[in-house]
Amino acid sequence: MNLDKSQKEFDVAKLIVTGGVHSGFRYRDPFPIYFKKAKGSRVWDIDDNEYVDFLVANGACILGHGDSKVTEAVVEQLQTGLTVGLETERSIEVAQMLHDMIPSAEVVKLSNTGTEAVMHAIQIARGYTEKSMIVKTEGCYHGWQDEAHLSVHPKLTGNKSPGESSTRPIPESDGYASSAIENVSVIPYNDAEAFERLAKGKDHIAALIIEPVVFNSGCILPKDGYLQELREITERYGILLIFDEVITGFRLAPGGAQEYYSVKPDISVFGKAIANGFPLSAVVGIKDVMQITAPKTGRVSFAGTYNGNQPSLAASKACLDQLKDGTVQSKLRRDSQTLMRRFEESTNRTGVKARLQSIGGQFQVYFRDELVTDYASAARSDKTKYAALCDRLLASGMLFHQSYLFHHGVSNAHDTADIEKLCVCFERFLEEIRRRESG
Ligand code: PLP
Repeated sequence: MNLDKSQKEFDVAKLIVTGGVHSGFRYRDPFPIYFKKAKGSRVWDIDDNEYVDFLVANGACILGHGDSKVTEAVVEQLQTGLTVGLETERSIEVAQMLHDMIPSAEVVKLSNTGTEAVMHAIQIARGYTEKSMIVKTEGCYHGWQDEAHLSVHPKLTGNKSPGESSTRPIPESDGYASSAIENVSVIPYNDAEAFERLAKGKDHIAALIIEPVVFNSGCILPKDGYLQELREITERYGILLIFDEVITGFRLAPGGAQEYYSVKPDISVFGKAIANGFPLSAVVGIKDVMQITAPKTGRVSFAGTYNGNQPSLAASKACLDQLKDGTVQSKLRRDSQTLMRRFEESTNRTGVKARLQSIGGQFQVYFRDELVTDYASAARSDKTKYAALCDRLLASGMLFHQSYLFHHGVSNAHDTADIEKLCVCFERFLEEIRRRESG
């Protein structure tokens, strides 16, 4: 595969843009790939290599790239203005759609990115409860602000994750306020007892924030009843439950993970697939709590020049129109089943210790024997084998992320041939490992 132009672009880019990328997640070793065009399930880089895209814009492009209805709606909208400092009918229309689709969305407020929406959700929780502490689950990512970007992928000591022995969060970056770290506690995912022990011992917990399915450590599903237990514990101790549905949102069901698992959080945040790649996010929740954001009467401010900007709203309406009846989600569910079944057949045939976990069309491959149930078990997956798989996929024209803890996905535009291509590559790769390991 020829990547000369990407390499040259990187040589120029890195002189003025650190690492040649504007988001750290886009960096690859030895240099990032720069893309030129994306359509449907395909991406073309500046060297004209064509890839089947399994990054799907980090989960955002649920309908596929350049969906024609979304594009038409945005082009039409561009003729009539972007953002003018007044609210529009369209913003209320999109809020109404979210209200109708999402079980807990009694009230809806729009913002631009997942990070912003999480920041608002935390402020709302603190303002409403008048308590300071936020609890987060290890391995979950909620954006890059000081109080959220903690204990996402901390170093294991021995075979243990820091969260298994301490509730003290580990910052993922320098530059964060020390007060942010003091105000956050960490618990392992899928361990309701650990949360109850913490809740019992502390009376100043405002909220628990969680990705209902941990896509930011690959694809880790909640054990049966886990989310329900969290709901019960939060209610018992007067703690708000925040679901970060930035990736689960609209993939698992039209009403997100909360509909799929029948658990109603107090506050939730949506982003990414809400507008098929256009920047839009939403903070939604029960009326009693969300009322605190009302201008004049509320105590928590909520503002932003670009909140509910018109092109993103046009994209969102055209996107949600296609997501609201559940047809896309059924297709993604079938894709997940195909990927898991085919991968399991390959591991059974080859005897290689690996598994593919998937839901809602999102998936990750782990090179380990047992089910991955939390961050620690995800982090113990074999990185070297994953890196080799990633290189193989790229060389075979498939875009994958280099981090063994990242997530991948398919969109509504991925067809059977795209999925077959991936399954065949998995099978060949596992077969090679088998041959190598059996000497
Ligand atoms: N929450 C989750 C679950 C995410 O996956 C992400 C982004 O990957 C965010 C929040 C932050 O969203 P954004 O990148 O739009 O700020």
